[in-house]
Amino acid sequence: MPADLRSDTVTKPTPAMRRAMAEAEVGDDQYGEDPTVRRLEEAFAERLGKEAALFVPSGTMANQVALRVLTRPGDAVIGGARQHIVAYEDGAGPLNAGVIFLTVPDDDGTLDPQAVALAAQGHLAHLPRATLLAIEDTHMAAGGAPWPLERLRAVGQAAGAASLAVHLDGARLWHAEVATGIDVSVLAEAATTVTCCLSKGLAAPVGSVLAGSAETMAGARRERHRLGGAMRQAGVLAAAGLVALDQMVGRLADDHARATRLAEAVAQRWPDIGFDAAAVRTNVVIFRPPDAAGLLAHLDSEGVRAGLVAPGTVRLVTHADVDDAGIDLAVKTLQTAPV
Ligand SMILES: *Cc1c(COP(=O)(O)O)cnc(C)c1O
Repeated sequence: MPADLRSDTVTKPTPAMRRAMAEAEVGDDQYGEDPTVRRLEEAFAERLGKEAALFVPSGTMANQVALRVLTRPGDAVIGGARQHIVAYEDGAGPLNAGVIFLTVPDDDGTLDPQAVALAAQGHLAHLPRATLLAIEDTHMAAGGAPWPLERLRAVGQAAGAASLAVHLDGARLWHAEVATGIDVSVLAEAATTVTCCLSKGLAAPVGSVLAGSAETMAGARRERHRLGGAMRQAGVLAAAGLVALDQMVGRLADDHARATRLAEAVAQRWPDIGFDAAAVRTNVVIFRPPDAAGLLAHLDSEGVRAGLVAPGTVRLVTHADVDDAGIDLAVKTLQTAPV
């Protein structure tokens, strides 16, 4: 059986999701009349400990809506250099919100509270004025690293002291919850807005949700419309999202254990590339083999698909549609990879 480890976005909806989608009660969501979308938004807001939430077609749109509602054109946004909102949205932030990014190092996936505080003082030295801090948990490019709670709180305090709003890109925040044992609502405490993907590890076909105060979400609803993301009978999609929240979080621990198996195989095959298997705590394995293109071709020839997240940087992602047999195949193929 082949194993597609390119991304957790390749997951297909489960049979329970397809049933829920077929039977979903729907209405016109832009009129506020889709009961299933409302249920999803309410359930999500409650889980994240926020007043209100907004269903959006993608994680990228959630980030763009947050930028537009929390900043004004010309503002600076402080964020880690490799975060999705900074590096992986094809320049959308500057285009859609007119912001520039002041980047700080995010080597281990977290940001240094002092670096954030310094960047927030930039306007005193003629640098752009920051109004927002963007963080990412788990941090994809740092190998799916979850933030330690203390660090999250310290950065939240630094942001508060500088009067910055905080946007938490939690596309994989459920993975952080499962890896750390800390509830998503606690992880999101310092966040003005928080978004999670339903369509990655949770296997729903479409959608992300953004949460925050009722006032912020009212503004977010307008920005979603402006970006073309207002939907109609979206309850057919939200129905799958409700199943995702209800049934798909608990099983993420399996994905994490499988990623650890992949990480150990990588560390064994390439002991000299500075890859630390013990640092892999969620479902993402990122490493720089001597010949990335050769490795991708070798994996592909055995039915194992992987991808690049930067030149020479290979990523393997575990998810609901890769089982132990798929991981066995991937491990065996890594063991015979050209070194
Ligand atoms: C995938 C991802 C997104 C974007 O989600 P899409 O639904 O693919 O637009 C945003 N942030 C992070 C950290 C992601 O991994």
